[in-house]
Amino acid sequence: SMVHVRPGIDSIKLYVPGRATTGLSEIGELPYVPLASNESPFAPLPSVVKAIEEVVGKLNRYPDPGVYALREALAAELDVPLAQVAVGAGSMTLCLQAVLSTCGAGDELMFASPSYEGYPLLASVAGATAVKIPLRDGAHDLDAMAEAVTDRTRAIFICNPNNPTGSTVEAQRIERFVEEVRDDILILIDEAYAEFMGDPIKTVGLSLVRRHANVVSLRTFSKAHGLAGLRVGYLVGQPAVVEVVQRSHMPFNTNTLAQAAAIASLKDRDGLAARLAEVRTERAFVLDGLRQLGLPVRDTFTNFAWLDLGDQAEAFAAEMGRHGVLVRPLPPHGVRITLGDRVANERALATVATVLATFE
Ligand code: PMP
Repeated sequence: SMVHVRPGIDSIKLYVPGRATTGLSEIGELPYVPLASNESPFAPLPSVVKAIEEVVGKLNRYPDPGVYALREALAAELDVPLAQVAVGAGSMTLCLQAVLSTCGAGDELMFASPSYEGYPLLASVAGATAVKIPLRDGAHDLDAMAEAVTDRTRAIFICNPNNPTGSTVEAQRIERFVEEVRDDILILIDEAYAEFMGDPIKTVGLSLVRRHANVVSLRTFSKAHGLAGLRVGYLVGQPAVVEVVQRSHMPFNTNTLAQAAAIASLKDRDGLAARLAEVRTERAFVLDGLRQLGLPVRDTFTNFAWLDLGDQAEAFAAEMGRHGVLVRPLPPHGVRITLGDRVANERALATVATVLATFE
């Protein structure tokens, strides 16, 4: 016999992550270049490594459950009160808390398609219905999203910039959307890639949070800050909505090393700025290289590029992988290629050229 499985969970097909690819590529016997997960190619900043080393000796103790020092650093940086900041073990944990606190069976969670692959799982785990609204011209179709709102809509994700297409929506357009929909719907502005857009602090989401009690901004240390392996993210909203999100919070989920590293990373403004500048240089290099190969890539303000390859996405990514360049297929839409350092990007461009030749 089998245990009873709760409705919603019974529909989830367990995702079994592949083992990390090691060794040498099938074709060419080259080391693998990991460009599938939008990670930073840079090792943690020396100041961050030092901060981690300083707290290793305290790992017999639980982490600060209130995450006060990190939240205070974030609140100061963002110029908001402490009560407006929540921290979690990656921004996805905070997304899960937000969805569990607002959506149950029969409720609707809306997001765009294609957008971040984690959103459908949140709906399933909450037992809620996922409502997917296709992008229009590669960007969020906020008219269609507003029209799709029903009296069961409880939460809406706007991924800005959007993973995987890199598209952005203007602040005023998002604000008009917020004003169009019921104000008891939680609007989650997922700004995982916001730092790459220019100002690493002042984001569209932050400006909306100041004026709307139902909006939250989700940020992470996994991308620009390069701390994906530590799992730390944060959420900003007005105090009442932050309190709602924190009701589904599991204590101690942000570990001691993550808290110390995030504080150090926030402090090292010059270190972050230098890396953001390098990502901008690499972005121009990769977009230019892809265009020279005849690929119609759009401008992006993120750490990844998007190839609109439609039904060929899976085959293209598989072939790239055989050459040792790991990229993310998102069939039936396209392929996402994370920006690496110069060496990785040269490999990626040369491999795209080789693989494209076999596709024509
Ligand atoms: N949102 C988006 C749009 C993402 O791309 C990702 C990571 N790929 C996340 C959230 C999750 O980030 P974290 O590592 O903070 O959980």
